[in-house]
Amino acid sequence: MRTYDVIVLGVGGMGSAALYHLARRGARTLGIEQFGIAHDRGSSHGGTRICRKAYFEHPDYVPLLHRAYELWDELEAAAGRELFRRAGLLLAGPADGQIIRGVRRSAVEHGLDIQEVGVAELTKRFPALAVDPEMCVLFEPDAGYLRVEDCVRAHVEQALRSGARIMSDTHVQHWSADDKGVVVNTSDGQYAAAALVICGGAWSSRLLAGLGLPLEVRRKVLVWLVDFDDECRVERGCPVFAIESGGGFYYGFPAIDEQGMKIGQHFGGETVRDPDELDGVLRPEDEQPLLGFVARHLPRARPTIGHRAVCMYTMTPDEHFIIDHHRDRSNVVFAAGFSGHGFKFSPVVGSVLADLALDGRTQEPIAFLRASRPALQPR
Ligand SMILES: Cc1cc2nc3c(=O)[nH]c(=O)nc-3n(C[C@H](O)[C@H](O)[C@H](O)COP(=O)(O)OP(=O)(O)OC[C@H]3O[C@@H](n4cnc5c(N)ncnc54)[C@H](O)[C@@H]3O)c2cc1C
Repeated sequence: MRTYDVIVLGVGGMGSAALYHLARRGARTLGIEQFGIAHDRGSSHGGTRICRKAYFEHPDYVPLLHRAYELWDELEAAAGRELFRRAGLLLAGPADGQIIRGVRRSAVEHGLDIQEVGVAELTKRFPALAVDPEMCVLFEPDAGYLRVEDCVRAHVEQALRSGARIMSDTHVQHWSADDKGVVVNTSDGQYAAAALVICGGAWSSRLLAGLGLPLEVRRKVLVWLVDFDDECRVERGCPVFAIESGGGFYYGFPAIDEQGMKIGQHFGGETVRDPDELDGVLRPEDEQPLLGFVARHLPRARPTIGHRAVCMYTMTPDEHFIIDHHRDRSNVVFAAGFSGHGFKFSPVVGSVLADLALDGRTQEPIAFLRASRPALQPR
């Protein structure tokens, strides 16, 4: 049986980053992934992810984001290609809504650069976007988008350069741990290590069954609009956008290539009982709200859908992540429940997981993400 310092179970968004940080620190590391690298059957595909700092979900995420930005820049330099484009982010919604209130709070607490945008300025500066007259509009210039699959590939490439081993198309059937170490049984043999890092995404409930984590997997749809004016292109200054409208938060990206403008709905989504059985076919009821959003807020795009993708969110009850040691096994650590907003954090999560697996603790401020917090306990 081959023995490692650390095995990383799941080489998606978080696992690829953990693998990289572990290997870079000299740990003999094995990553095991059931599908291919940067595959489209989990939570880390669909071209792009928003990256932003003025975090409306909670200001406690901002210090982690400062570190994530540094680590994205480092990864980009190592990879030698653009991963993170600071195209800016336009945020709009009611002044007392979740987004605007939350963004202002994080910006004030952490001194972040957020610009107020008046209606006349919006029309002139960002003609691709329209908001309701009563909406408040903010612009975060340092935000933008990450090329999601390329980020996963870059973490994997750099991990391999630092000596990691990766087994793709290999399913982990079972793992066990005791004081001496961990043993992982796969579709391609058995592997042992001193520590295990579990980054199972939508499969986390199954991989961490003993913990009874309150995770709910949701089916999320993305569509690309193929017919649009040049103002919708990133080179023409169209930013990423997030608008609280029609009962929830929608988001979208400028056209960055000929696939067009991508849009999605952050709220709602059907519960997925088994991530292996995700329904990847788009239905009319998936499209309707997205096309309503186009009609209301994207005056320079037509409602013609080209490419489509289905992806999964893994929700916690309070929509905050879980990063912790396994309650019963100190040599097992995990990161789960990224609730549809985790990708931008993946390098700092990878670094934290490496800290926890190798040193047993981390300097990063993650106490608010512990598994024992009240919101995760059975009622
Ligand atoms: C439509 C959509 C839009 C999003 N938008 C944003 C955004 O704009 N900004 C943002 O920051 N975040 C966003 N997110 C959230 C973000 O993408 C996720 O939080 C993040 O990608 C989750 O990474 P992960 O590593 O937990 O999951 P994944 O990347 O899915 O990785 C889990 C991996 O574990 C593997 N695995 C599971 N079980 C096994 C097993 N038994 N054996 C071997 N391998 C196994 C899986 O195959 C998978 O590769 C979005 C998510 C979606 C779906």
